[in-house]
Amino acid sequence: MVEITLKKGKEKAALQRHPWVFSGALEKVKGKPEDGDVVKVFAFDHEFLAYGYFNSNSRVAVRLLEWDETQTIDISWYKNRLKQAIASRQFILNKQTNTCRLVFSEADFLPGLIVDQYADFLSLQILSSGIEKVKAEIVEILKNELNPKGIFDKSDATARTHEGLPIENGLLWGENPPEFLEVKENGIIYHINIAEGQKSGFYCDQRDNRHILASYTKGKKVLDCFSYSGGFSLNSLANGAVSVTSVDSSGLAVETLKQNVALNKFDVNRVTAIQSDVNKQLRAFKDSGELFDVIVLDPPKYAPSRSALDRAARAYKDLNRLGMLLLEKGGLLATFSCSGAVDIETFKQIIAWAALDAGKEVQIIKQFCQPEDHPVRISFPEGEYLKGLLLRVL
Ligand code: SAH
Repeated sequence: MVEITLKKGKEKAALQRHPWVFSGALEKVKGKPEDGDVVKVFAFDHEFLAYGYFNSNSRVAVRLLEWDETQTIDISWYKNRLKQAIASRQFILNKQTNTCRLVFSEADFLPGLIVDQYADFLSLQILSSGIEKVKAEIVEILKNELNPKGIFDKSDATARTHEGLPIENGLLWGENPPEFLEVKENGIIYHINIAEGQKSGFYCDQRDNRHILASYTKGKKVLDCFSYSGGFSLNSLANGAVSVTSVDSSGLAVETLKQNVALNKFDVNRVTAIQSDVNKQLRAFKDSGELFDVIVLDPPKYAPSRSALDRAARAYKDLNRLGMLLLEKGGLLATFSCSGAVDIETFKQIIAWAALDAGKEVQIIKQFCQPEDHPVRISFPEGEYLKGLLLRVL
């Protein structure tokens, strides 16, 4: 096995169990590793640090996965890791919910592997060359452990290009999922399209937040911005919202949302689904003077990296300022950011600026976070990406 020695003083992060070794930290590479090979990483003084996946294309030259030198990274190692991750999600999967994230990359000690369960199908994202090399073995283990109808590869993410990997989107094993696969979450049914839909098909990271938000919507007029297939809209309808207006720029998302309203037998007269840019639509509501009791803002990732932070902060501020202006006095704004680069304190600061600009007093009445199937390893704070605030706007 290829051995890599780090520069003097560069072992600290690995000792603290952070899983990334940046290319600038490498002192010596003994041997010629191929991309995706498992290598042994040592400190400058030859102390063993961890095993990891090597990659020559990425800024992260080694993704660490095992800190115990006595372990062998073989099929049974992968089997144990996968079984552990799957077992820790079983309490989420019950009669009310049959979709969740089974494996969450670094947080589950499998850097670059994401596995989402959608009823009887699995959707995989393979985002590191290390996982790409053992893809066939992983599919075999998942097949034996979970007995799914089909395993789909939905790895069309830019992260793959950073690792020098081609974009993939296709069936890995078994049956193709139907064009509209039925899944259940919080007792609500959704049609999802794994191949054509966004992310790996559905945003299951908002499961708990949809449920929490819905408890504030009884008898209320709700505006769900960036509604995708209707997560927040449908939970609000189920909880007795008088009306829901859903806005998304994607035609497929709006169509799917309408199907989901019908699927759950909600009264279509309570729902207005609008295909539009949210910023434009919010301005149109402002011009027409229409107000709402509860507004959800769940935009896509505005800051893909730290360098995009300033621009993203302005976009979040503007969006939230508009949202605040469209609420009845004392109305609620549920506002989210899924940008890892924007931490909760920064997000609160942005909201404070938005409130000042809107000329509103704002109270935080709840904080939202990512659910249990998207755990945050304490040594890997980068894994924390989803945050939100429930605000009362006075
Ligand atoms: N709230 C959703 C998830 C939102 S994901 C849920 O609970 O499932 C972000 C959504 O924003 C996507 O559906 C995308 O199509 C939409 N989107 C991105 N940019 C947009 C824009 N400028 N205006 C409206 N929708 C946008």
